[in-house]
This record gives sequence, C-alpha cells and structure tokens, in this order.
Amino acid sequence: MKRKVQLSRGLFLKGFIGVLILGALLVSFTFSKDEISAENIDQVIKEAHEKFKGIKEGKNADYIPYLAKVDPNLFGIAIITADGHVHLVGDTKYEFGIESISKVMTLALAMQDRGPQVIKDSIGANATGLPFNSITALETLGKEPQNPMVNAGAIATTSIVLPKNNKAEKWKKMHNYFNKFAGREIKVIDELFKSEMETNQRNKSIAILLQSYNRIFDDPMIALELYTKQCSFGVNAMDLAVMAATLANSGVNPMTREKLVEAKDVPEILAVMSTAGLYENTGEWMYTVGLPAKSGVGGGIMAVVPGKMGIAVFAPPLDPAGNSVKAQKAIEFIADKLSLNLFSAKK
Ligand code: GLN
Repeated sequence: MKRKVQLSRGLFLKGFIGVLILGALLVSFTFSKDEISAENIDQVIKEAHEKFKGIKEGKNADYIPYLAKVDPNLFGIAIITADGHVHLVGDTKYEFGIESISKVMTLALAMQDRGPQVIKDSIGANATGLPFNSITALETLGKEPQNPMVNAGAIATTSIVLPKNNKAEKWKKMHNYFNKFAGREIKVIDELFKSEMETNQRNKSIAILLQSYNRIFDDPMIALELYTKQCSFGVNAMDLAVMAATLANSGVNPMTREKLVEAKDVPEILAVMSTAGLYENTGEWMYTVGLPAKSGVGGGIMAVVPGKMGIAVFAPPLDPAGNSVKAQKAIEFIADKLSLNLFSAKK
C-alpha cells in the first residue's frame, strides 16, 4: 500500500516536472517566434527589394569575361531561418557564379579534414586590408596568406583538402560537399569555368609564390585549378541562403538535417568571414552591419546570423572592392530592420 502511494507520488512529480519543462519550452518557442515573425521577414525583404531595385551604381566584374555579360538588373533576396523556413523575393532562381563565396565551404571542408589549428598555423586569420587578389599582401605581411577568404589563402585552403595529388578524387569530394551545403546537386557553369581558366594568370602567380614560400600543401596547379572550378559553381540566391543558414544552425543544413560542420568549428569560420569576407571593406561592413558575410564577384553576398538565419542577396554590379552594391545595401537594411547586428546586446 505504502509502496503504491510512493509510486504514484513519484509519477505525479515526474508528470509535474514534465509539464513545467513543456511549458518553459512553449514559452521560449513563442518568444523566439515573436521576436522575428515570418510575416516580419517577408515584409522586410519585400521592402528592401522595392527600395534598392532601381539603383544603378556599380559595375559587373569584367576581368572574367563571362561575368561581364550577366544581366545587371537581376536582383534576388533569400532568407532561410535556422529552422528551415524559406523567404524569397525577386530573382532567387537565377544561377550565377558562386565565386569567392565558395571559399567558405572549402574552408569548412579543410577544417573537417585537418582541424582549425592547421588553418590558423598555415594560413592565418588576420585581415590583409588589401584587395582579394593582392600579391603585395603576400610579399609584405609575411609568408602566410593571412586569411582563407582572400585568394592566396583560399588557394592554400584548397591545397589542404585531402587527398593530395589526386585531382579527380579531391574534386569529387569537394563537389559532394558543396552539394550537401546547398541541399541539392549544383553544377559548374562550364562557360564560366573556361572563362576563368583563360584569365587566371594572377592567381597562378599567387599559387607559385605560395609554393616558393612552402605555403601550398598539394601540387600548386591542382590547387589552382580546383579553386578556379569551385568558383565556377552555379548557385541561386536560395542555395546561398541554405549555405548561410547551415552555418547559422551550428553546421546542420536546416533543409536536409545533415550535419556538415562540427558546431565547435563554426565560430572560427564566422571569424574569418568577419575579418576578410568583404576584403578591404570588411571593417566598414562590420561597423555598419555587424554580421559575418562573404561576397563573390558574381554578385552574391551571404551573411550569417548565428542561431537565427542565413541571408543571401544576388545583384551583379559591384563596388571597386568587388562587393555587390545592392546586396550590401539590402543586407544592411534587413539587419537594421530586424535588429540583427551581433554587437548589440539583445533584450
Ligand atoms: N574566381 C575569382 C578570382 O579568383 C573570385 C574572386 C572573388 O569572387 N572575389 O579572382
């Protein structure tokens, strides 16, 4: 009899605690939902699109001939929340060259292969303050490329990905990893790849200079070719938002639920994006927007709001540093309206 009473008391207590936990979860869920509602996001991206679509500033990249031909009026905004909700406006299905945004995914892969310490020791994590394809940076700042987000650092990062000396196997692994980040199979835009290979003499010089400094960890021509190929992936704004949302969601793709980056490695990736993601303009970007981001000369920018969302904007015309003019304006506007700046204390 006594045992029965004890048992039901125990059960009651367990039930009570269960209800308490459920209640707390529900409250926090409701609050986080209230903080930034789906309607709010839809409204803000629509406003941003409306506000900036007429802007004529900037110029398509032309040092890669394919990029000069892309319609400069294309403009798409995509947000994917860390729990997988999709918000789109404008040209979010158009496939463009991922370009330097690919540096982020290859970095994640190199970290998976060799760990973050190897990246810090052999590449670095400081800003160069110089253009993305600077050779001066390599000559004057030390033999390390300084940061995986500039060309020298990205070519070195591609060289770190395993296996070495096997172009086909390495590419297969990289392609597969990029597919998982996008949550679908993406393809290289052949015409873009050809265009890049025909005009990548400067990057070739960087790869060979790195070799002379012992800062390239595979055949430099394999690293150069695969770096150029990863830049030629065709993605749309939604793909980029999924990639950014994967980083926002501690390395788990919110659409496929697949874990792609160790949660402990995500902050290091976001740190190098915060120091060199927009090259020599990264300081001003962090000053005004306060979000880790990565740009590409194809006109894309993706920004990560840890724990909350990935934002991607595509609009080809660039500023002199190689960052999409409209994408910067749109993300700045969205971050301001939704109070996303990481440096502000949250209430
Ligand atoms: N493929 C381009 C290059 O290496 C990428 C540069 C960029 O997007 N900033 O020059």
